[in-house]
Amino acid sequence: MIAYLEQFVSESESNTKLQEEEEDGNNDNKKILLCREMDLQGSIDFDCNNSGSSNFAAACKDFGGLNQSRPLGVIKPVGTDDLVRIIRSVISSSSSASSSSNNNLTVAVRGNGHSINGQAMTDSNGLVILMREINPRIQIVTRNHHNSCSNGGCSNGGGDVFVDVGGGVLWEDVLLHCYYSSGLAPRSWTDYLGLTVGGTLSNAGISGQAFRYGPQTSNVTELEVVTGKGEIVTCSENQNSELFFGVLGGLGQFGIITRARILLQPAPHMVRWIRMVYCEFDDFTNDAELLTTRAECDSFDYIEGFVFVNSDDPVNGWSSVPLSPNKSFDESRIPKTAGPVLYCLEVALHYRNGDNVDTVDKVVSKMIGRLRFIRNLQFELDLSYVEFLLRVKQQEEEAKANGIWDNPHPWLNLLISKKDICGFDQTVFKKILKDGIGGPMLIYPLLKSKWDTRTSVVLPEGEIFYLVALLRFHLPMGPSVQDMITQNQEILQCCTKQGFDFKLYLPHYGSDDQWRSHFGNQWSRFVERKARFDPMAILAPGQKIFSRHS
Ligand code: FAD
Repeated sequence: MIAYLEQFVSESESNTKLQEEEEDGNNDNKKILLCREMDLQGSIDFDCNNSGSSNFAAACKDFGGLNQSRPLGVIKPVGTDDLVRIIRSVISSSSSASSSSNNNLTVAVRGNGHSINGQAMTDSNGLVILMREINPRIQIVTRNHHNSCSNGGCSNGGGDVFVDVGGGVLWEDVLLHCYYSSGLAPRSWTDYLGLTVGGTLSNAGISGQAFRYGPQTSNVTELEVVTGKGEIVTCSENQNSELFFGVLGGLGQFGIITRARILLQPAPHMVRWIRMVYCEFDDFTNDAELLTTRAECDSFDYIEGFVFVNSDDPVNGWSSVPLSPNKSFDESRIPKTAGPVLYCLEVALHYRNGDNVDTVDKVVSKMIGRLRFIRNLQFELDLSYVEFLLRVKQQEEEAKANGIWDNPHPWLNLLISKKDICGFDQTVFKKILKDGIGGPMLIYPLLKSKWDTRTSVVLPEGEIFYLVALLRFHLPMGPSVQDMITQNQEILQCCTKQGFDFKLYLPHYGSDDQWRSHFGNQWSRFVERKARFDPMAILAPGQKIFSRHS
């Protein structure tokens, strides 16, 4: 009898499954038909024969390498009009669809896919839009008064100079274009420039210049956006401001950034890049905060820092500090009282080709004279401004050659209030991470007054907070990816248990409650913005904040 029942159940199950598969197939066909009807100038790849074309394969994964998801199709649009057609077709298909055909398609915009947790991905119910080539234009624009150009360099004579760039353009291309065409450059960067303008503006865009100019989101004056309603909207602080501020740090939820206008300033030619080693965390943070809050004329142009292991570990230890291979780290200088980890303050001073090197030396000596780093554990390198900004590209090339770059990266990025940073050092750096993470552990202070609270980014309390970036690389002899993920969870649990005031940067959560708590008192504003600009929750499904509905 039992055997008979089992047979019965499995037969009926398999019939249902077949039926479901047939329906799924029909649905897929309907969706594919819908996409074909979009009448795009660009192309759609459905990878029907599973050939795994390079565009399709890239859209199924990201830099994190922790998730894989196969979309229904991958679109390479030709211009903004294509984006409008896609969104409008998706909207009209769901309003006309019967419930059984379930045409609730989503649209995931992919910048350069350098997310960690599938934020730019979608499933078989969605389309991935590749932004890299949509609007590759980079154009310098000048507003008002007189802006004179001479000797290949621009003097910003009272007017403001900006660059208009497509949302899918890489920051490295913005740098090279602005610098070599007019001697200008944006003010605020990320450490690595192989990221798209739209991708970093959807988060914040943080690096060593943010203490002075704020994140990249504080350096944009105008955006062109295609909303989740399929409308092209130009927005700024004074025009459609709710959309403008919503999109900045908005995790792709409210619209697709198709153009950004970014503030420029005259670029320096050269950079003096300096690293100073500290034994005591308090000395390190006091000096970092001192430099961060000093008047512009009395401080450096770039301030960051990192933690490293107090050992000869070739990846995590002393040798990760010197700036050039011909300089060595003299560990005999480290005081006997030093703990398991040490700290490195990393600063940079800009100067111009004609500047006297003695003068640069004097300025640097004056600024670091009273700092409390370990004397003789100081490293310096002079390099061009472009080389400095492209410094991670060199590491990328090396890591690619070693086969490490494409391995999984379970990164964890946090913004932690100044009041809890010492506790974080005690419990996380000195204990949980005392052996390192197989990659950089960045830590540096930022000033809240340089961030615009009208954007969608959420920050911890207080004027000073720290960026902590645990940039893990999966190394052949190192811990497993799962162990690294578990350690990240342990760190988060530890922060929560100790009541630390912190926010995830590049957030990733699995439940509504977690998103609510991430946004805190900004949650209702975020929800209202979503209802206004993407009411069907079509955009950025990979963030897993809202569910698609009709
Ligand atoms: P994607 O990963 O493609 O997309 C990220 C999110 O933005 C997705 O939700 C996507 O849908 C959305 N999106 C992308 N383009 C658009 C658009 N045009 N309009 C609307 N939404 C869009 N961050 C820093 O702040 N500072 C750093 O120094 C830094 N360094 C990094 C170094 C490396 C090696 C890596 C891998 C990441 C780094 N990041 C840094 C993080 C990086 O800023 C984010 O992961 C960013 O989202 C990546 O940009 P992307 O173009 O690859 O975006």
